This record gives sequence, C-alpha cells and structure tokens, in this order.
Amino acid sequence: MNIYVLLKKTFDTEEKITVSGGAIEDDGAEFIINPYDEYAVEEAITQRDAHGGEVTVVTVGDEDSEKQLRTALAMGADKAVLINTEEDLEEGDSFTTVKILEAFFEDKEVDLILAGNVAIDEASGQVGPRLAELLGFPYVTTITNLEIQDKTVTIEKDVEGDVEILETSLPLLVTCQQGLNEPRYPSLPGIMKAKKKPLEELEIDDLDLDEDDVEAKTKTIDIYLPPEKEAGRVLEGEISDQVNELVSLLKNEKKVL
Ligand SMILES: Cc1cc2nc3c(=O)[nH]c(=O)nc-3n(C[C@H](O)[C@H](O)[C@H](O)COP(=O)(O)OP(=O)(O)OC[C@H]3O[C@@H](n4cnc5c(N)ncnc54)[C@H](O)[C@@H]3O)c2cc1C
Repeated sequence: MNIYVLLKKTFDTEEKITVSGGAIEDDGAEFIINPYDEYAVEEAITQRDAHGGEVTVVTVGDEDSEKQLRTALAMGADKAVLINTEEDLEEGDSFTTVKILEAFFEDKEVDLILAGNVAIDEASGQVGPRLAELLGFPYVTTITNLEIQDKTVTIEKDVEGDVEILETSLPLLVTCQQGLNEPRYPSLPGIMKAKKKPLEELEIDDLDLDEDDVEAKTKTIDIYLPPEKEAGRVLEGEISDQVNELVSLLKNEKKVL
C-alpha cells in the first residue's frame, strides 16, 4: 500500500506565545509535530506493518520542518518529502497549502492519506477534507479506528463522544482523532536509522506551480491575545445585600443584564 501522511509543524504546546506588530513571534520558539499528526504517523506505520507497502510523510513548510520530518522517520516512516516554500512565498493559507499538496499528489499512486483532525495552532481543520475533494477521494474526519480488508475500509468516527461506524473504500483520506492509537516515541536505533532515510526536498517550481497559482485567498488582518483575566471579587455582607450588589454590577458594570 502507498500510504501518505500530511504533517504540519506547530508550536510546542509548552511554548508561551508572544504577539508583536500583529504577528506571532516565533524566533527561538520550539516546534513539534502537530499532535494529531502523530496519531496519523502511528496509524500509517501500523497499517503498513499489517498490509505491506511504504509510508511517506509530506509537509509544506520551511527548512526547519526537516526536524519534524526526521522525527516521523525515526518513529518508522520510510520516506519524507519537504515542499519548501520559504524562497517563493511570503504568505499562505489553507488554499495555498492544499493547492501545493494537490499538485504533489497529481502523479502519485495513492491508497491512503492520513492527516491530523486539526492543527493546534491555526485550527481550521480544512486541509484534509479540501485535499480529498480536489483529488476526488472519499474522506472521513475524526477517525478513532481503521480496519482495511482488501479495498474495503471500516472506520469508527468520533461524533462528539458517540461513535459512528462507516464503510468506504480505497483510495481514501482520513483525519485522525485522539484515541485512534498511542503514538510511539522514536527509539535510539530509530533515530540513527532516520538520518539515512530518504528526505526529498521540492520547491513549488518542481510541481509546475508559480506564486499566482497558490496565492492565499484569505488575509490575516490582526492577531491579538485575549485580555488578561481580571481578579475575582468577593461580595460581603447580608445575602440580600450581596444579591442586590451582584445584580447592580451585572447590569451597570458588566452590562450583561
Ligand atoms: C507560504 C506559506 C506561508 C505561511 N505563513 C504562515 C504564517 O505566516 N503564519 C501562520 O500562522 N501560518 C502560515 N502558514 C500556514 C498556513 O496558513 C496553514 O498551514 C494552512 O492554512 C493550514 O491551516 P491550519 O493550520 O488551520 O491546518 P488544519 O487544516 O487545521 O490542519 C489539519 C491537518 O492538515 C495537515 N496540514 C495542515 N497544514 C499542513 C502543511 N503545511 N503541510 C502538510 N500538512 C498540513 C495536517 O495533517 C494537519 O493536522 C503558511 C503556509 C504557507 C504555505
């Protein structure tokens, strides 16, 4: 089976985000594999081990994304592809990412594509479904179990805490939800082997695309942090006085009544 994983690097969840001039400061920040993409890598390896074939991890990113790709190779993926947009594009959105991925997959034999359910930074949850639409593949989001028998695929899907069971066929795109599996940590031999595994680097030129083809369809106008949480206030005195004061505060100060 030809299995592909879409992988995005995101801020480390421990990282304290700072915003300056309407943009997120990422100088010196630690980056990780988007946690939902770790489920995708783990599932891809499991399915490959059960059915044969190979796992290729693909990212649209910059030079630094190599680190996350090498981690996926150390977990057990076979090959990695970095589509490096650093030189050609200053901005991008989901449209940009999906157009680039569509061009990448144009000449590929694909059985299964696994993506994360959502990226924990920008969280649009669009890349997987939009790519499937462009490729003409069936897709199922937020999966928590995947069984493949020949070309038939049975899937359990998380629907707000309930489970939906679906049957579909390959080629297929799925997006992975927490609970699908327990992603493994890369072992030391895995890390050593990963250094020698193939990592292909492409630019949009190599995919017969130019800047205009992938120009973002959305523009970020502003980014700001939520206001600091105010300290709570404890009301004192008779209960009836406290109730009157509370109502007055909600009405006159907070203006929610
Ligand atoms: C040239 C360029 C410049 C960009 N500049 C910025 C920027 O300045 N600031 C900023 O915050 N973002 C930037 N991005 C990121 C871009 O906005 C997002 O990657 C894109 O909109 C996806 O949306 P999302 O993060 O909400 O992903 P979601 O749709 O929530 O992601 C779901 C899943 O899709 C897959 N996926 C998402 N993104 C990628 C990817 N890049 N490669 C492979 N698989 C992926 C993963 O499996 C992920 O789990 C840039 C992208 C490009 C191409």
